Amino acid sequence: MDKKKVIIADQINDKGVDKLKDIAEVIVDTDITQEQLIGAIKDFDAIIIRSRTKITREVIEAANKLKIIARAGVGVDNVDVEAATEKGIMVVNAPESTSITVAEHAMGLIMALARKISIADKSVKEGKWEKSSFMGIELCGKTLGIIGMGRIGTQVAVRAKAFEMDILVNDPYITKGAASRLGVRVVDKKTLLKDADVITIHVPLTPETRHSISKDEFEMMKETAFIINCARGGVIKEDDLYDALTQGKIAGAGLDVFENEPPEGSPLLELDNLVATPHIGASTKEAQRDAAIIVANEVKKLFMNEVPKNVLNMPVLDPETFQAIKPYVHLSEKLADLLIQAAKGNITEVDITYCGELADFPSVDVLNRVVIKEMLNSILTEPVNMINAATIAKKRGIVLTESKRSEAEGYRSLIRVKIKSDEGEMSIEGTATPKPRIVRIDEYWVNVKPEGTMVITRYKDLPGTIGTIGTKLGEHGINIAKMQVGRQKPGGEAVMVLTVDSKVPSEVIEEIRALEHVYDAVYVQL
Ligand code: NAD
Repeated sequence: MDKKKVIIADQINDKGVDKLKDIAEVIVDTDITQEQLIGAIKDFDAIIIRSRTKITREVIEAANKLKIIARAGVGVDNVDVEAATEKGIMVVNAPESTSITVAEHAMGLIMALARKISIADKSVKEGKWEKSSFMGIELCGKTLGIIGMGRIGTQVAVRAKAFEMDILVNDPYITKGAASRLGVRVVDKKTLLKDADVITIHVPLTPETRHSISKDEFEMMKETAFIINCARGGVIKEDDLYDALTQGKIAGAGLDVFENEPPEGSPLLELDNLVATPHIGASTKEAQRDAAIIVANEVKKLFMNEVPKNVLNMPVLDPETFQAIKPYVHLSEKLADLLIQAAKGNITEVDITYCGELADFPSVDVLNRVVIKEMLNSILTEPVNMINAATIAKKRGIVLTESKRSEAEGYRSLIRVKIKSDEGEMSIEGTATPKPRIVRIDEYWVNVKPEGTMVITRYKDLPGTIGTIGTKLGEHGINIAKMQVGRQKPGGEAVMVLTVDSKVPSEVIEEIRALEHVYDAVYVQL
């Protein structure tokens, strides 16, 4: 097997580079220009970058072998994730690499405000010795309100506990179990704003969080409160913060992030009760080292056919969920395979219904991708994988819908895949427990192992029809191994699935279709 090739296009810590050297040929070229990269990228299986290199659509289009783009850091603003997704290239980052670093920075800003460190420093350097002007407060016994208890918020809580602070948390997505393990109290936002002596923000910037701290929120805070933002500029409305700081509604603010960066001309910068840093929350040697190690491990995992954990353009399951869902992955492949072979015309819609226990699974999106990937791979020349499946389907105008039903017709779980095309529709249902089985074709119940070669026929349920189909196969030397019949009522339409021992030429299928009382016949190979 060819040794994989990795290009490291931005300066990363040597520990990350070393990790890859034993399994890949590693080229470190941190001066590579955009044009040079477009020319060179076709030879590489992986690229590791920080923020200098731009992975544009042009770079991605030139990347014939590339499987993974790894950003040694958090933000992926310099990667065209959409273009990578379309091409089935995985994008990973290292979000956990900065958690401790940012949490320590938040603690630093809290300390700077509590003990007026930055203005005291400035005063001493100006030759003054104004001890009485810098009366501070202790953190011990004070209440810290953490808004957003994710990776960074959690690390702040751990550190604040060492300072003997009481901790209130507002995060609609934290579980009670996680909160009690961390010894924090989950409260609504209003309570947090009213009761906290120090408020620190660790949420992403979303339409919901943008300006979520503005005039009304400042009105609720204690006049002695400090607010810290090491998350994203825009969560705090800066005009309202200025009013709150100048009108004594709160006592101080510590900002590492701003609505506009740099915050040129911002009146906030004139205030002594504001401590500002230039978005350096994540800037430590340790965070950079850890980011390099984390992304090197992600690339290594992919090369060893494992799934990296921080994939931004594909759902990643925890090991327990993966084990539980695995039998259904196999089943979904089989259902998709059968349908794509049996259906006629251009597919316009794929509807997937999860029934029974599966309906409660949080991760069925993975199965949707499996179905689409399997179907598209058999009709397209461009490779379709779990990353680009949904995007390619959308580009081809295939509407994917997902629904859930608690009822599973006596089975623990069922998956029903229905496709519509310009020539009709067909559905198939299967279960994976206790064994993989196709249990229904359209409205006809059957019980068929999803493997081998099969002839599926629809016919009028009259005496002798099954015999004529069997005879036709026999005439061509095709032996029937198993037979399953499904019908709704005697004399109506019926479906027969014949598992056969050899391939069935298309002429034979045509001959079966031409038999009296036979409506249709298809040949599928699973
Ligand atoms: P995370 O995804 O681990 O945690 C975010 C938390 O916010 C989650 O627990 C989520 O449930 C919660 N949340 C989301 N919406 C919320 C809402 N409306 N109200 C309350 N909670 C809400 O993210 P993280 O890695 O901890 O990063 C937190 C923030 O820090 C992000 O904005 C990130 O961009 C920023 N960050 C800043 C720097 C820096 O240099 N200053 C560096 C890294 C990360």
